[in-house]
Amino acid sequence: MIDPFGRHISYLRVSVTDRCDFRCVYCMAEDMTFLPKAEILSLEELDRLCSAFIRKGVKKLRLTGGEPLVRRNIMSLFRSLGRHLDTGALNELTVTTNGSQLARHAEELRSAGVKRINVSLDTLDPEKFTAITRWGKLDQVLDGLDAAKRVGLAVKINAVALKGVNDTEFDRLIEWCGTQGFDLTLIEVMPMGDIGGETRIDQYLPLSLVRGQLQRHWTLEETDYRTGGPARYYNVRETGRRIGFITPMTHNFCESCNRVRLTCTGTLYMCLGQHDSTDLRGPLRASPDDALLDAAIDEAIARKPKGHDFIIDRRHAKPTVSRHMSVTGG
Ligand code: SAM
Repeated sequence: MIDPFGRHISYLRVSVTDRCDFRCVYCMAEDMTFLPKAEILSLEELDRLCSAFIRKGVKKLRLTGGEPLVRRNIMSLFRSLGRHLDTGALNELTVTTNGSQLARHAEELRSAGVKRINVSLDTLDPEKFTAITRWGKLDQVLDGLDAAKRVGLAVKINAVALKGVNDTEFDRLIEWCGTQGFDLTLIEVMPMGDIGGETRIDQYLPLSLVRGQLQRHWTLEETDYRTGGPARYYNVRETGRRIGFITPMTHNFCESCNRVRLTCTGTLYMCLGQHDSTDLRGPLRASPDDALLDAAIDEAIARKPKGHDFIIDRRHAKPTVSRHMSVTGG
């Protein structure tokens, strides 16, 4: 699949549920309305959709959400998608999780063929953790991380940089990731979805600033390491681990975009930061063979936009994109 700007689309991210057991302050309002269950694709339908993309050249598949590990019977989807790793059609099956259910699922993930996982963790302070996630317990996530390490899953920690919340903690996070053997990625907060009282301008911290501050304590060596994603990676000489920076706000990362995103209702978004989408549930359900689905996918890829237009400033009180990150999956 090649888009109008010559980019090869080889990475599919699938939000398997919009529900989550946390309510992170920058992600969701506390009082969220979730999709009616009837609108959500079955696990078999999600498998068929993912398999169609793999047949068309997707090599990397990430299940995300919402919280993917709270969806009932989600391990059966991991297991069935694992067959594409066995045939070599797929290079990587992975997951982004908040880690709350990882202690129960780490071993099964590993045996389904998952090798690396991303775990979102913004702070190592238990009280702050509960303040950020509203409903989360840090210990539960740390237990999940222990389980992941035990079964040999490589872990990357994702932390959203939040002004006045975790901005004094990055040194501690880098050090802790070093001792745990985890890589770390810092992410700029993006203006997606209404989050209730708070505004993104209060949370937003440009990572260009953070990187400069970190360089006072850490030797960040430039690398050309890439995971096929938007992060710029550096080796932290003192810990021997990598640190990545995802900077959608301060640096437009769209020129190398290789991905599209599918929601749990079968809507395909060609860009995280744009409204345009294509319904794939209709063609999926209209016929048991994949001809209609294939045509709808081709038509969507031909519409992939050049880039996003995220803006955070005082004149833009409303989020640039009205849907929450949990819809398209972060
Ligand atoms: N529940 C899983 C998790 O916590 O990793 C997967 C879904 S969550 C939406 C994926 C990632 O998006 C998390 O790392 C989260 O911190 C991040 N995220 C959510 N809303 C965001 C926003 N407005 N800006 C930047 N990152 C955001």
